[in-house]
Amino acid sequence: MDEIQQGEVVEFLRTLIRFDTTNWGDGRSAGERDAAEWMAAQLTAVGFEPEVLARADAPERANLVLRVPGADRSLPALLVHAHLDVVPAEPEQWTRDPFSADISDGRIWGRGALDMKDMCASVLSTLLHWGRTGERPTRDVVVAFVADEEDRGEFGAAWLVAEHPALFAGVEAAVGESGGSHRALPTPGGTVDLFAIAAAERGTMHIVLTARGRSGHASRPTGDDAVRRLLDALHRIATHAWPIHLSPAVRAYLDGVATALGIPADLDSDTGVQACVDALGEHADVAKFTVRASSTPTMVTAGYKVNVIPGIATAAVDVRCPPGFEEALPPALAALVGDDVSFEFTHFESPVQAPVDSPWFAAMSAAVRRALPDALVVPFCMGGGTDAKAFSRLGIACYGFAPHGPAARGSYGDGVHGVDENISIDSLRWGATVLQDFLTTV
Ligand SMILES: [Zn+2]
Repeated sequence: MDEIQQGEVVEFLRTLIRFDTTNWGDGRSAGERDAAEWMAAQLTAVGFEPEVLARADAPERANLVLRVPGADRSLPALLVHAHLDVVPAEPEQWTRDPFSADISDGRIWGRGALDMKDMCASVLSTLLHWGRTGERPTRDVVVAFVADEEDRGEFGAAWLVAEHPALFAGVEAAVGESGGSHRALPTPGGTVDLFAIAAAERGTMHIVLTARGRSGHASRPTGDDAVRRLLDALHRIATHAWPIHLSPAVRAYLDGVATALGIPADLDSDTGVQACVDALGEHADVAKFTVRASSTPTMVTAGYKVNVIPGIATAAVDVRCPPGFEEALPPALAALVGDDVSFEFTHFESPVQAPVDSPWFAAMSAAVRRALPDALVVPFCMGGGTDAKAFSRLGIACYGFAPHGPAARGSYGDGVHGVDENISIDSLRWGATVLQDFLTTV
């Protein structure tokens, strides 16, 4: 990445932060079209013809899509996607205006600095570099800057996938957010530069339980009422020890980090996996949540008067499912709920996973190592979800690869969705350089 780009990637991020693209959820948002149109104007100025697309009933929720033809158009294409929206910021809690994009302490401050206008700025810089120089990527690169990731994607990725799948024709793999950030791993042989690339996401399932019973006077308990039935079921669900179910991504993460730390790991037995997670401690990070399913009651409703036994009690439970466990989970959940209580899925999003032994993963790993030759690059499984779930419906292998350099430590993670979100300028430039290298050469 040349000096022009080193400077412009910083200014692009600052400009993008100043577009307040807050997504409040339930269809309420702002600014996505302004941000998309501004990016489209930059791209048009260097000869590209980006498309700005939005649902007819929500023209402000704009997405930008551009296909850059590669040198060899017979190769499978790559998609790079980043979202334009940000979660709300409460200015009174911030030490500076969340949309001012101030620079201090070598950092850019503002909502979206890490999640994920940094990647939008990096990709834009690469596109403009290609446009100005005539340099082209090895293969077709499809770029999607999308709306609505921070809610349900129904104006962004999910809509594009459902209504405009032809835009992604020939795409075999995708890179998006949540992966590729530097982390310093203190090992017996010295500090190791660890980069975890997302290669999977747990599935998200929400269930609602309904228990019924005879209502009556609370002074005459029957011992078998709606609240009691619901509580029994919730207790079984909340305390259930879900079996270990290692996806290839989690196995490779645990294996790679344990080996670097000199910790022996037996990943072929449940007790061995648990021992490994415990021994890794904070370095097991998100892996400790992704070795198995989880079921967490989050909402409970019953009753209207303290001396009346209610006839109905309901609860909502958040369930997360590791890749490969989606067939086993529903019957296991039904057994936990039991026959006394009915339940239904109100939301069912299957887990996704991409191969960890693919040329795509190897190319990301190689791009990181060209910048930091001794880096340890491992895959991991995300605990939550991103737009990867939508794009994977097209059969695309989705990875989380939004590289951040060594200076990211101390800000990344604390800053995403948090107060005083910020990114180190060095980390931004390092990441933009690695991403450009990957997008050009893969
Ligand atoms: Zn994000």
